[in-house]
Amino acid sequence: MRDQIVAGNWKMNNDQIQTETLLERLKTYEIPNKVRVMVAPSFTQLSQSKQLLNGSSIKVAAQNMSAAPSGAYTGEVSAGMLKGIGVQIVILGHSERRALFHETDVHLAEKVKAALASDMEVIFCFGEELEDRKAKAHFDVVEKQLKNALFDLETSAWKKIILAYEPVWAIGTGETASPQQAQEMHAHIRNLILNQYNPSVADEVSILYGGSVKPNNAKEIFSGADVDGGLIGGASLDAEDFMAIVNAF
Ligand code: PEP
Repeated sequence: MRDQIVAGNWKMNNDQIQTETLLERLKTYEIPNKVRVMVAPSFTQLSQSKQLLNGSSIKVAAQNMSAAPSGAYTGEVSAGMLKGIGVQIVILGHSERRALFHETDVHLAEKVKAALASDMEVIFCFGEELEDRKAKAHFDVVEKQLKNALFDLETSAWKKIILAYEPVWAIGTGETASPQQAQEMHAHIRNLILNQYNPSVADEVSILYGGSVKPNNAKEIFSGADVDGGLIGGASLDAEDFMAIVNAF
């Protein structure tokens, strides 16, 4: 049985005080046993978040990571540095990293390998742009993103991979893929993995949906047979909304 996961991507939000306020609120909720819950604060709040969540089942993820282990990479943070403060999960390939910081599939393949070499879990984000969907190229675009960044991994590496399908046109826009569009794409993704690997890898990998998931649409989106949870941006900044989504399975 694969994991059901809800991960909150805080992006560049929540300073020291806001982090404490939000995490203290999240800690007052009971987390359903069957759901893995994660939050991804900024680098500067990772240690604080780890401390505040000590004893809670909510896990802390980083939003990005360098492919390099150390050296002359001003402003970057390595897998070893994250592991050193107990962070074992990293989001890679978010569409904002791809669009604003020019991260390509080639960079991302390197980052994924570096994270896995440090035994970290990776939430790998990918998804098509609006023009791709309009041109009916969305299945091909997603296939290429997965092939370029992940399909030369060993079978065993997939234990540490969580996929997050995030159609770019639905991120932060208030527009979501319909539950049918999400399920259709997730089934396609699982099938690609089946063809490249084997039934157990395909069955066991969790595929999250991301793009304007809110308390009022989460249940329907998560009802898709191949939708195993969500990567949540805006709604993860509000404890009540985030926990409503955590409880939407
Ligand atoms: C995201 O940033 O990954 C995301 C899905 O954002 P939002 O939920 O705000 O669309």
